[in-house]
Amino acid sequence: MGIATRLHEVLKELPQGVRLVAVSKFHPDEAIEEAYREGQRIFGESRAQELKAKHETLPKDIEWHFIGTLQTNKIKYIIPYIAMIHGIDSYKLLAEVNKHAQKTGRAVDCLLQLHIAQEETKFGFSFDECREMLAAKDWQSLENVRIRGLMGMASNTDDEEQIKREFCSLYEFFRELKSAHLAEQPAFNELSMGMSHDYHLAIAAGSTLVRVGSRIFGERY
Ligand SMILES: *Cc1c(COP(=O)(O)O)cnc(C)c1O
Repeated sequence: MGIATRLHEVLKELPQGVRLVAVSKFHPDEAIEEAYREGQRIFGESRAQELKAKHETLPKDIEWHFIGTLQTNKIKYIIPYIAMIHGIDSYKLLAEVNKHAQKTGRAVDCLLQLHIAQEETKFGFSFDECREMLAAKDWQSLENVRIRGLMGMASNTDDEEQIKREFCSLYEFFRELKSAHLAEQPAFNELSMGMSHDYHLAIAAGSTLVRVGSRIFGERY
């Protein structure tokens, strides 16, 4: 079965209001082109240099989403064209993105990443750190970033109940922030959760953006 078939299988399962970020990291241009020919326009990458190379050769109407850990010295490679950064895990990183965005005159859409999994290896704000950051209000003066929502990764486990609990906790937190800190920001409306093995659970819990890679493109080597 090819990329086109698997892409359509995933797309068929998405309810209205849920968009697909096709995670193409480590896959070659040809794989992206195949999905592009089927109409897919949102692609996710996790390394700045790989993204830069792909952006240079692939069609310009692709909407690139950065889903990895963004090192500050790499921000400049992606700022001119990045559509959304999913992994903002500190105020410092948000301010740094703002600084680079200012130079290009753009406002960059960002998602705050929350640590909802049990694994220590995963990144993100704790709920309390995120509340504190938003309560401090410094972020409101950052004119070249827009906080569009939240992102989270569930634990890598077969325990569906646990995955559901983690996604639901992020959804609840999203609702809380929307009324407590971001009530005047109607653009705070994205919830990025769900990968190849758990996107069904994420959709049931209120995801608006699923980040699906191997289910469409196959294993990464
Ligand atoms: C790689 C990656 C994905 C896609 O993972 P698959 O299991 O291949 O669907 C989604 N989100 C993030 C943050 C990733 O790094």
